[in-house]
Amino acid sequence: MDLKKLKITAQKDIKSAQNLAELNNVFKKYLGKKGELTRILRSLKDLPIKKRKTQGKLANQIKKDLELIIQERKDKLQDAKYKIQNTDFDITAPGKSPVLGHLHPLTLVRRKVAEIFQSMGFTIVQGPEVETEWYNFDALNIPKEHPARDLWDTFWLKPKNKKLLLRTHTSPVQIRYMEKNQPPLRIIVPGRIFRHEATDASHEINFYQVEGLMIDKKGKITVANFKAIIDEFFKGFFEKQTKIRLRPSYFPFVEPGFEIDISCVNCLGKGCSVCAQTGWVEILGAGMVHPNVLKAVGLNPKFWQGFAFGVGMDRLAMLKYKINDIRLFYSNDLRFLQQF
Ligand SMILES: [Zn+2]
Repeated sequence: MDLKKLKITAQKDIKSAQNLAELNNVFKKYLGKKGELTRILRSLKDLPIKKRKTQGKLANQIKKDLELIIQERKDKLQDAKYKIQNTDFDITAPGKSPVLGHLHPLTLVRRKVAEIFQSMGFTIVQGPEVETEWYNFDALNIPKEHPARDLWDTFWLKPKNKKLLLRTHTSPVQIRYMEKNQPPLRIIVPGRIFRHEATDASHEINFYQVEGLMIDKKGKITVANFKAIIDEFFKGFFEKQTKIRLRPSYFPFVEPGFEIDISCVNCLGKGCSVCAQTGWVEILGAGMVHPNVLKAVGLNPKFWQGFAFGVGMDRLAMLKYKINDIRLFYSNDLRFLQQF
């Protein structure tokens, strides 16, 4: 057989092989033990010496060429096989939607509170959850043996040297902030606090509070400022036309102190079970910062004054989302959490 013709047919056969098995057959046909080219190479010895040289050289060259293109074809078919294996899916099948997490209701509340106060120029400040007696009590005008300490059921810690506790309110952060920053200042302090008490629908051993503090020159910040700011906050938070009222009350770190009620967001003041038919809901404690607190951080109460307030974020969340048991926030029950 003519060698050049053989090369052309072999090349065609290699090219048309559609898979590795077909290609293997082509290899056998030309280069196998009984292959066409193999036979020619074997028969070279019968040729006259001159012809043997030229034919031999050509046959060997063709053998090399064919081996090379077979290898190339093999690589290509293997790649294709690999691709098919790795894209072997039904593009018409409906997709699986990934399970998305979402924010906890208390996180939603904390963010909303922060957003509203930031829009009124308040800075967000945080502090340690383990506090010293000084920051949690003494600096806030609650000295040792003062009966007011009984208002907070405290978790005391017992390290070797000093008396530490889990903070019972976020107010110690006010002290820490005023020690390092000069007024005028306006901050809010969102954070976790701890109380050593029995749990029930409205009590937990830990919960979240947000504290606010605004201090400026004497006469500049009054109860009227506080009322305007807190009114603005409730309107933004509940997204309803709420009314507020102030009632005199006692907190050791303020003078005068008051409690703030808002018109019930559930019945809009008409009277319902949430507000015990009164139309009002107790929500927040506040007052003008006590001169002793200012003195504790080295500010002269003759020149500075301001207000402070504290509100439970769990309480805000319960009112906003109509939740009747604080324990739901901490029980990790998906039936509850998935509603947010
Ligand atoms: Zn009501």
